[in-house]
Amino acid sequence: MRYVIDPPTLPSIPVIGREERFPVRRVFCIGRNYAEHAREMGASVDASAPMFFCKPADAVVTDGADLPYPQATVNLHHEVEMVVALKTGGRDLDAHQAAEAIFGYGVGLDLTRRDLQAIAKAKGHPWDVAKGFDHSAPVSALRMASEVSPGAETEISLQVNGTLRQCGHLGEMVHSVVDIIKTLSTLFELKPGDVIFTGTPAGVAALERGDRFHAELQDIATLDGKVA
Ligand code: MN
Repeated sequence: MRYVIDPPTLPSIPVIGREERFPVRRVFCIGRNYAEHAREMGASVDASAPMFFCKPADAVVTDGADLPYPQATVNLHHEVEMVVALKTGGRDLDAHQAAEAIFGYGVGLDLTRRDLQAIAKAKGHPWDVAKGFDHSAPVSALRMASEVSPGAETEISLQVNGTLRQCGHLGEMVHSVVDIIKTLSTLFELKPGDVIFTGTPAGVAALERGDRFHAELQDIATLDGKVA
């Protein structure tokens, strides 16, 4: 194929123990998947109606690259989340197909321009400018699902400058990973390369220039970086 301009680079994520990388097609996110976080945002969980949004694939940042402090905000928030990467897809998946679709797991930050999100909420506007900005999805290397199986007791945490900011267990998730994949597949045809941010526990707060962060999905993945 020849193009009239140079084609964009395909975003990708490293895989632990492999030289090949995981190519990213789409980034899906679920909101309000931990009740304590929903409460701290002044919202409540509607277990019957999960809330989804998307980030562009090229929002993914990997390999511990410095994160530039984004433009157009004075309130950049961290949301530490387990990230699930898919190796197969489809529509209207059942639980078995959803489980089999998982390639691997990582940990990432669903970075949020909280000030722009507050304006969007107040005006009933979409969340794109609050959630889908450049560099808004730093992700660790992925651990293959063939090697690990995160469970209810698996801890997810975030330290900023050595201080614990967020800590939770996957068992607190309102919608399980399989349920998220099943529901997403009723809304979109999922495909290999899709990546899902699975929601954040309580403790979201601001990141400032110069902050160093350490995110961890217990025994599975870690992500270290700095806001430049
Ligand atoms: Mn989030």
